[in-house]
Amino acid sequence: MTEEELAATFEPLIRTELDDLKSLREGAKGDRKPVELDQQSVGRVSRIDSLQVQAMSNAAEARRQKRVRALQAALQRIEDGEFGYCTECAEPIAEGRLRTDPAATRCISCAR
Ligand SMILES: [Zn+2]
Repeated sequence: MTEEELAATFEPLIRTELDDLKSLREGAKGDRKPVELDQQSVGRVSRIDSLQVQAMSNAAEARRQKRVRALQAALQRIEDGEFGYCTECAEPIAEGRLRTDPAATRCISCAR
């Protein structure tokens, strides 16, 4: 694929995934609010419960942030005309691999 074809194919995929991640983050906001310390309104068990929900939500948020950074870096590579080339050996990354993960930075051999 030419640089233009790569950009035309993968930029929309990357932007869609970024939008999806953004809505997921908006939706999960409530779970990450600091846990209320008032023992009268929140029993001990439900407090442990909400701490666990918060911890899981924070872990999910950390994964989403990492993914957002990877996708933004891919957009930057499109802009720089470097998208689709392995950052290690500079060979083209297989199209199928990019379809699986448009944020892939290395070809299959280098990723192994
Ligand atoms: Zn490579």
